[in-house]
Amino acid sequence: MTISWTISTTPFEWRDMSWHDKGACVGVDVEVFYVPDRMRGPSKKAHVEKAKAYCRKCPVQSKCLEEALIMQDFHAILGNTTPEERLAMK
Ligand code: SF4
Repeated sequence: MTISWTISTTPFEWRDMSWHDKGACVGVDVEVFYVPDRMRGPSKKAHVEKAKAYCRKCPVQSKCLEEALIMQDFHAILGNTTPEERLAMK
């Protein structure tokens, strides 16, 4: 998959974030989308898979991924990608 993206020059407060309300993760504990640093192996894989299960059924997945790349958010699982997967897209 090839994705092209650029850093936005639009100030964050001016960006349309209304799509957030349509995410499959609305109302889900945010911790689901953050993998603890100490987590490894099968536990980490299960944690990532749990988060990605929400992303895969999300109607705003592509917008979420785009925003994560534009904002250079390399902390949470967003847009069906891990931070490591997004770093590899740079
Ligand atoms: S793609 Fe995943 S993290 Fe992004 S809004 Fe949808 S469910 Fe939430």
